[in-house]
Amino acid sequence: MSNKRLLDVVASEVIVCTKCPLWKSRKNAVPGVGSTETRIMFIGEAPGRSEDAKGEPFVGTAGKLLDTLLSQIDLSREQVFITNIVKCRPPRNRQPKPLEIQTCTPYLDRQILTIRPEFIVTLGSHSTAHIFSEATLSFSNITQVRGKPRKTCVLGLPLTVVPMYHPASALYNPEHKKILEHDFQLLKTKLRSIQSDTLDR
Ligand code: URA
Ligand code: SF4
Repeated sequence: MSNKRLLDVVASEVIVCTKCPLWKSRKNAVPGVGSTETRIMFIGEAPGRSEDAKGEPFVGTAGKLLDTLLSQIDLSREQVFITNIVKCRPPRNRQPKPLEIQTCTPYLDRQILTIRPEFIVTLGSHSTAHIFSEATLSFSNITQVRGKPRKTCVLGLPLTVVPMYHPASALYNPEHKKILEHDFQLLKTKLRSIQSDTLDR
């Protein structure tokens, strides 16, 4: 089955999912969007109000910033895959609970296993903590691990995890915005170095 078909199956299950209590307050579940053949996945925390309204990840103010950061390294949303660790909006945008994350992330795992990305960019501490735990890397806090891409194994796939601040945190913290821009440049360098490796072979 093609990646597109496999990801469509995941999405069709997510939009009717009632496995954790978050389904009760959602308008729309948010499976993920983007290229099904990409080298890079971006994983955020959970849908917010705009995402819940539209059924699409990162379409509110944090999403606008994500689009800008992508365009600064000559990427568009259509060239990457964007999703979250939980697919439904927590009430009043509270943090997702451990049980909600545990119940929902089998969907994320299937998306990762289908796309087989070379890079997973984790946005914010929840996403980073989840992926680090799947990679059996120890996680303390996002400030300590950001800016240091890690070559590791996630679900048996060799890949590089690139932890970053969440774009929402940069909306009210100019320092975080500068650091995010820096980390996107770092991602661009990594993409190039791997591309030139491939060309050399
Ligand atoms: N914040 C997230 O973590 N994900 C979204 O999709 C939107 C905002
Ligand atoms: Fe299902 Fe995930 Fe939504 Fe919970 S958050 S209802 S597990 S799709």
